[in-house]
Amino acid sequence: MEHKVALVTGGSRGIGRAIVLALAGGGWQVVFSYRSNEAAAQETLETALRLGGRALAVRADLAAGEDRRRLAQEALGVNGRIDLLVNNAGMAPRQRTDLLEMSEASYEEVMAANLKGPFFLTQQVARLMAGQVRSGSPIQPVIINIGSISAYTSSVNRGEYCISKAGMGMLTALFADRLAGEGVLVYEVRPGIIATDMTAGVKGKYDRLIEDGLLPLRRWGQPEDVARAVLLLAEGGLPYSTGEVINVDGGFHLRRL
Ligand code: NAP
Repeated sequence: MEHKVALVTGGSRGIGRAIVLALAGGGWQVVFSYRSNEAAAQETLETALRLGGRALAVRADLAAGEDRRRLAQEALGVNGRIDLLVNNAGMAPRQRTDLLEMSEASYEEVMAANLKGPFFLTQQVARLMAGQVRSGSPIQPVIINIGSISAYTSSVNRGEYCISKAGMGMLTALFADRLAGEGVLVYEVRPGIIATDMTAGVKGKYDRLIEDGLLPLRRWGQPEDVARAVLLLAEGGLPYSTGEVINVDGGFHLRRL
């Protein structure tokens, strides 16, 4: 379908960048947000345009309601609709701090970016998508949340991140349930250890763990591994599934003996 519009949060770097490029290469018009890294956003934008896709970068802090409203309006302005929302933007705590020392400020910052922001952006976009379906659009809208293995894996030095990603699991279930009758499909893509800026600071630790057999598939995940899953779901690859969690984690979630 010509000119389907995707809204991807946090598209300037890492996993979001790979998602933007995969969608642009697949013919989508992609509106993506970033928080502050102009240079990275510009690079992603230019690469997406070179792939032949149409793209637009919007500076918006997901934690701020006014920014979320402006972002959705910008996306709507491209072609009068939004066919895909990818809630990808997220942050790790600025400092890894033991659970017994974690500050209220860090908890609030991480939860606002990783959970409150996606919740209220989804609420806003879901209303638009439901309206599109009611008015006879032939395209089935899709919402994809980027979760994490941290939804069920305890890391006591970044508990606020784990709690936010556990919340993302329920966010997915709630919207999948509520929106099924509105004709909107909702999924979670759950990455494992992916090579991006977010994991750059702990590369040595993860290199060793992977070398020692932490993952059944013994390699780092790449942003493109996650983007592949997103593209499959975005293009209607699982039409009789909703609320599904797709693990992109090299088999990390398997219980092994
Ligand atoms: P990254 O390389 O650090 O990139 C984060 C992206 O999110 C950037 O585009 C950043 O914008 C944006 N962002 C951060 N906070 C934001 C906010 N408050 N408002 C708007 N945009 C914001 O991270 P990544 O590794 O690609 O992670 C992407 C998603 O995957 C996150 O939700 C993360 O939790 C999840 N994830 C990552 C891994 C992994 O191993 N890397 C594993 C599981 C899940 P700027 O460029 O402007 O800073």
